[in-house]
Amino acid sequence: LTTADLIEEHKICVCVRKRPLNKKELTVRDLDVLTIPSKDVVMVHEPKQKVDLTRYLENQTFRFDFAFDESSTNEMVYRFTARPLVETIFERGMATCFAYGQTGSGKTHTMGGDFSGKNQDCAKGVYALAARDVFLMLKKPNYKKLDLQVYATFFEIYSGKVFDLLNHKAKLRVLEDGKQQVQVVGLQERDVRCTEDVLKLIEVGNSCRTSGQTSANAHSSRSHAVFQIILRRKGKMHGKFSLIDLAGNERGADTSSADRQTRLEGAEINKSLLALKECIRALGRNKPHTPFRASKLTQVLRDSFIGENSRTCMIATISPGMASCENTLNTLRYANRVKEF
Ligand code: ADP
Ligand code: MG
Repeated sequence: LTTADLIEEHKICVCVRKRPLNKKELTVRDLDVLTIPSKDVVMVHEPKQKVDLTRYLENQTFRFDFAFDESSTNEMVYRFTARPLVETIFERGMATCFAYGQTGSGKTHTMGGDFSGKNQDCAKGVYALAARDVFLMLKKPNYKKLDLQVYATFFEIYSGKVFDLLNHKAKLRVLEDGKQQVQVVGLQERDVRCTEDVLKLIEVGNSCRTSGQTSANAHSSRSHAVFQIILRRKGKMHGKFSLIDLAGNERGADTSSADRQTRLEGAEINKSLLALKECIRALGRNKPHTPFRASKLTQVLRDSFIGENSRTCMIATISPGMASCENTLNTLRYANRVKEF
């Protein structure tokens, strides 16, 4: 089976990506508790202690469509996840790609890329790589004759509210019309002609997303970022690719925080991640009733979860450290549930 076959069969592809131990983890000598023994298996070796204090490793195995180890590049991860979905939007379909995982596990590195200059060789993330291939595909004779126009949007969902990252975080309303079409009112849709145009928008959106934050991860770990590439033909939607950098999944634990605002945000994140799981599962079962109204995230993605030609992939990002073990296991269990329907 090729990737295309897998996706053809399931409509859903679930992968996992392990990042390397970072400087901080190396400094405190955190242990790497993850192994990727084959291209679709990840094992967690959790250090435990018996009552008599003898130590042992509890090994747990998870299988996915693909498992990427710490040596993998954004380009490789992209090739087996989002890349096969580029064709979907040219064939009048809807595609979504989600990065799911705990804060610091590599969601933004994978999706948005790293423009800090630290990682020169993998600056481009899935957003930019997908855009590159959309422009390549446009040149193919079959698609060229359709005279398609490419647009991009970039917005954030924070505490159940939508903010435009290409328009100074303007707060936007979400409306559902009588025909069950969901519309984000006033969302800026930018005309893009080449990969460079898209890179500029990603930079604008990213700096808008992080502006005014006290710490680098404070706000972005609590919000979902949605980057969309839209194909239009004579003004009408032809296909749409939504690429989503989800809120950190550990934020659900904030529901017991002392701070009311933090608690509400945690509850909202929990709700949206649960709704997302159910919507993807419904897509896999070809179930007509998708519970998309359960959260703002799934509501704005409604048209991507219904319809014949909807495809999705999830990249579950995991941190290798022993200190992250519990979050990693939660991520792997969630990803496992997504692919069982
Ligand atoms: P998240 O968005 O999930 O909170 P980030 O993408 O911001 O996590 O990653 C946290 C840090 O780890 C960043 O400094 C990032 O550059 C680094 N990092 C993440 N994934 C990788 C990877 N696969 N290879 C190298 N560095 C990575
Ligand atoms: Mg992030």
